[in-house]
Amino acid sequence: MLIKRMLLALSGTSLTLFLVVLVDLQLRTEERLKPGTAGGLGGSGPRQRPSAELTRPESHPARPPAGKSVRSAQRPDTAAAAMNRSLADLERQIEDRRRRLSERAGQRRTPTPAPSGALRLQDVFIAVKTTEKFHSTRLALLLETWISRTREHTYIFTDKGSEDESLRGYNAVITNCSSEHSRQALSCKMTAEYDAFMSSDKKWFCHVDDDNYVNPSALLAVLSAFPRDSDVYIGKPSLDRPIRAFEQLDDNKTREVRFWFATGGAGFCLSRRLAEKMAPWASGPRFEQSSAAIRLPDDCTVGFIVERKLGVPLVHSPLFHSHLENLLLITPQQIPWQVTLSYGIFENKLNSVELKGVFSKDTDPSRFKTIHCLLFPSTHWCPRQYAL
Ligand code: UDP
Ligand code: MN
Repeated sequence: MLIKRMLLALSGTSLTLFLVVLVDLQLRTEERLKPGTAGGLGGSGPRQRPSAELTRPESHPARPPAGKSVRSAQRPDTAAAAMNRSLADLERQIEDRRRRLSERAGQRRTPTPAPSGALRLQDVFIAVKTTEKFHSTRLALLLETWISRTREHTYIFTDKGSEDESLRGYNAVITNCSSEHSRQALSCKMTAEYDAFMSSDKKWFCHVDDDNYVNPSALLAVLSAFPRDSDVYIGKPSLDRPIRAFEQLDDNKTREVRFWFATGGAGFCLSRRLAEKMAPWASGPRFEQSSAAIRLPDDCTVGFIVERKLGVPLVHSPLFHSHLENLLLITPQQIPWQVTLSYGIFENKLNSVELKGVFSKDTDPSRFKTIHCLLFPSTHWCPRQYAL
């Protein structure tokens, strides 16, 4: 009988030891999966998904109380009592480890403090170009989705609407630029964007159109990959070769120039150091003069200044998207990694990403609401089933 009890206690001890090893393994795995190890700019390969939402509810259901079945097997009498005492010690150890584990899980819900000097999202000046006629349509969709996450450092450049209630509470810049879609009008807004960035304390300048979705954590991940204080111009060209232009020179002559440019419709970014070097061709009235010299619009002018005047090559990124490319080619799995997405009419059809979700194509033709709920499922207007 005694031997039987001892055997029983021994098997209980082995089970407990097994649990200790299991919890320990979990702790070690947690350590290995800590954020901050992802890298690379490419669109493929195994990588961590950017932490789109740091406050996302835990995906695991609550674990059952620790050691319940082990505790019910205890017999506090006879010679097995000593064995049970050590069992209780082991249980306490398990409880302790479980508590530390759940504390760490809790810590993950709050943003990990960035190492000093690391780039923060609020260091990025995001300029959105819009026009009054798109305030209630295109812009409203952005305010409701990604701008709700980047409001403090996002600046909306428009042409009219100082009385517009929907702009209240946002950094809205009412430029004196014409509301047309002409080269001059668009360059006028780009000047306002550039000058506002230059007088800010931000480390990066990013431009997007009002038909772009910006994924804040993907943007931060990409910009963080560059060394501090480097000359960076990043975006995606809409052409498969450098553009050819004729630069008007002072003596009434022209010269042929070729350069790459990042299409404004996919968004692009410039590091502060490079933006400062652009000043002789970009600040104040000079940007429009540069644009006039090549007779090309604002985004081409940025490429001209950076590649031709400063000799800094564009970093071609596959993570920026305009509606000039076939957005159906982006798979749902790739969506959380993309820095910008877009929508619009392309070859007479609505071009948008293909992403299933509870919003129908009628209620969410751009798919921006669906994307936003995928990235930020706890958003108050996202249907419950998005929450994990
Ligand atoms: N835009 C503007 N005035 C206009 C039409 C467009 O300022 O009359 C802006 C618009 O808000 C957007 C950008 O120019 O940020 C590009 O416009 P759109 O997407 O309509 O044209 P795309 O160049 O992409 O074909
Ligand atoms: Mn567009």
